[in-house]
Amino acid sequence: MIKFLDLHKINERFRTQIDARLKEVLDSGWYIHGKQDELFEKHFAEYIGTKYCVAVANGLDALNLIIKAYGFGPGDEIIVPANTYIASILAISENNCTPVLVEPSLKTYNIDPNLIEEKITPRTKAIMVVHLYGQAVQMEKIWQIAKKYNLKIIEDSAQAHGAMYKGKRTGNLGDASGFSFYPGKNLGCLGDGGAVTTNDKALADKIRAIANYGSDRKYHHIYKGTNSRLDEFQAALLDIKLPYLDSDNQRRQEIAKYYRENIKNPKIILPKIYDENAHVWHIFAVRCEERDRLQKYLEENGVQTNIHYPTPPHKQEAYKEWVNQSHPISEEIHRTELSLPMSPVLTDEEVKRVVKVLNEWK
Ligand SMILES: *Cc1c(COP(=O)(O)O)cnc(C)c1O
Repeated sequence: MIKFLDLHKINERFRTQIDARLKEVLDSGWYIHGKQDELFEKHFAEYIGTKYCVAVANGLDALNLIIKAYGFGPGDEIIVPANTYIASILAISENNCTPVLVEPSLKTYNIDPNLIEEKITPRTKAIMVVHLYGQAVQMEKIWQIAKKYNLKIIEDSAQAHGAMYKGKRTGNLGDASGFSFYPGKNLGCLGDGGAVTTNDKALADKIRAIANYGSDRKYHHIYKGTNSRLDEFQAALLDIKLPYLDSDNQRRQEIAKYYRENIKNPKIILPKIYDENAHVWHIFAVRCEERDRLQKYLEENGVQTNIHYPTPPHKQEAYKEWVNQSHPISEEIHRTELSLPMSPVLTDEEVKRVVKVLNEWK
C-alpha cells in the first residue's frame, strides 16, 4: 500500500539529531519556555521574514490569540473562506465574533478576492485568508481592500510553511499569521505545536503575555490570559527540522510537477498553479465527478488517499445555525475533492505507480 502520508518515515530521517537534542532537553531540567523555545522562535521568524515569532500550543490557539489580542469580540465580523478547515472558523467563533463566509475560486481553491468587498459591513474588522492546500493566496487585491476599509489581515498559514507570494513567505503577507506544527503539516512536530508570526511588536508582546496566563513577568498579570505554550521538546524538534523545510518542499514540488505532467485521465481535474514557488503542496488535491468510486478503486489498487474535506463547515452540526447558507462552489469542491499521496519521502517508484493506476481508471 502506498501510504497517503508516512509520518514515521518522515521523522526517522532525523533520529540521530532528535535523540541528541531530546537528551539535552531532558538533562537541562527546564521543560517549558526555555532555550529551545527561544532558539526556534528566532529561527522561525528569520525563515518567515518577520520581526517576531511567538510559539504557542497549536495552530487553533495561534489564530484564536491573534483575534483576542486585537480585542475583537461580539458584533465584530471577520471574513473567512467557506471551504477552509473548520479550525479557522472556530478561532473566530471562540472570540464570539461572527464568521462571514466567502466562496473560494475554483481555480485556486483559495478565497475569491473578487467576492470579498460585497461582504464588508461597518462591523467588519478583519479578513482571514487561508493558504489552503499549501498555495499562497494572491494577496494584491486583498491588500487593497484591507487598506481601503482599514481591516486587519490575519493569515491562516497552517498548510503553507514556506510558500511564497511576490518574494515574501506566507506568514509575512498580512498583519499577523497563525501556523500549526501538527505532525502532518509540512513542518510538523511529534505532538501539538503552533506559532504566531508578525511584524507588530505590541501585538507579539500581548500574545506572548496572554498565552502565559496574561503575565508579562512572573506573578504579574495584566490580562485575563490563558495557557498556550510550546514545550521544549517540541521546540527542539522543530528547530532540528526547520533547516530541511525548503528541501522537503522542493521534493513535494517535484512530485506535484510529475503528477501534473503525467496524470492524463480525462475524468480527473488537476490543480492549477499561478507560480512554481507559491505552492508547497501540503495537499495535492484533484477533483473528480465520481470521487467516491475513484477513491475505492485506488484503495483496491494499493493507493491510499484522503478527502479535504468531506463536509463544508456550514453543513456541520456545530454550525447548524448556518443550515440555510448556500455556498455552491465550496460545496462542489467538498463533493469532488480527493487528495493523492504527497510527502517528501515518497519514492519515484511510488509516484509513478500512483500515476499509472490513475491513468488506467475507467
Ligand atoms: C491544521 C490546521 C489548523 C489547526 O491547527 P492545529 O495545530 O491542529 O490546531 C488551522 N487551520 C488550517 C487550515 C489547518 O490545516
